[in-house]
Amino acid sequence: MSDTRIVAIANQKGGVGKTTTAINLGAALASQGYRTILVDLDPQGNASTGLGIEVDRRERTVYDLLAGDETLEDCAMETEIANLRVVPATSDLASADVQLAQFEGRSILLKRKLVEAEPETIILIDCPPALGLLTLNAIIAADSVLVPLQTEFYALEGLSQLLATVQQVRKNANPDLRVNGILLTMSDYRNNLSQHVEADVREQLGELVYQTVIPRNVRVSEAPSFGQPVLVYDPSSKGSMSYLKFAEEFAARTKLAREVA
Ligand code: ADP
Ligand code: MG
Repeated sequence: MSDTRIVAIANQKGGVGKTTTAINLGAALASQGYRTILVDLDPQGNASTGLGIEVDRRERTVYDLLAGDETLEDCAMETEIANLRVVPATSDLASADVQLAQFEGRSILLKRKLVEAEPETIILIDCPPALGLLTLNAIIAADSVLVPLQTEFYALEGLSQLLATVQQVRKNANPDLRVNGILLTMSDYRNNLSQHVEADVREQLGELVYQTVIPRNVRVSEAPSFGQPVLVYDPSSKGSMSYLKFAEEFAARTKLAREVA
């Protein structure tokens, strides 16, 4: 496979690890030689911040990509990590749902731009915690949807709604859309509950669930305030190791072609 891979990281629940996964999967893939672009589609801009892009440096943002003439190449900013670029978001995206709703082709604004991506690029889209117009743009533009689930009692709550949305988009706008997989995050192995939840999720969703589970690890939560992926902030931490392992599993499952040796 030599073409571009576009993966939307989505779950309408907040705080399940979407942004953390976007940053650290992106950094891990980049470190493994894949040319990667993270599209920050959340008005909170946490993925941009977590990659060290301060607000005042965000000149061309994902809003320009959606609403303006800017191309992906115009908007993608270099990060401190080789092979990893980010299209930053600012709070002006917060009103996008209302503003973009008036555009013709309002749900294919992102797709229109991402089809122009250079070949052999991996594009990860960090979705906001809602199933609104922004997330719809992401999954219409995507080849597949990666769903982080927090390893907690209500992990599966809301998943059926998300999967129904994927089905609907597949029927109408994007027939090739796939569920890439489910990633369990913030697992705590000292806690019986995490193990029960993991067993339950695996029983219900089978092979969709990635073997790698991301543990709860304080270094993962500290890293964004330093503007760094945990892979840079603390490479030997459990969080860092688990995202590297996950990236390998993701690359194999997603059949990625490596651009850089
Ligand atoms: P979402 O993007 O789905 O809203 P985040 O990725 O922002 O979720 O994660 C929510 C919170 O949990 C953040 O404060 C983040 O730092 C923390 N967090 C995420 N993953 C981990 C982890 N593996 N270990 C510890 N804290 C984590
Ligand atoms: Mg987020």
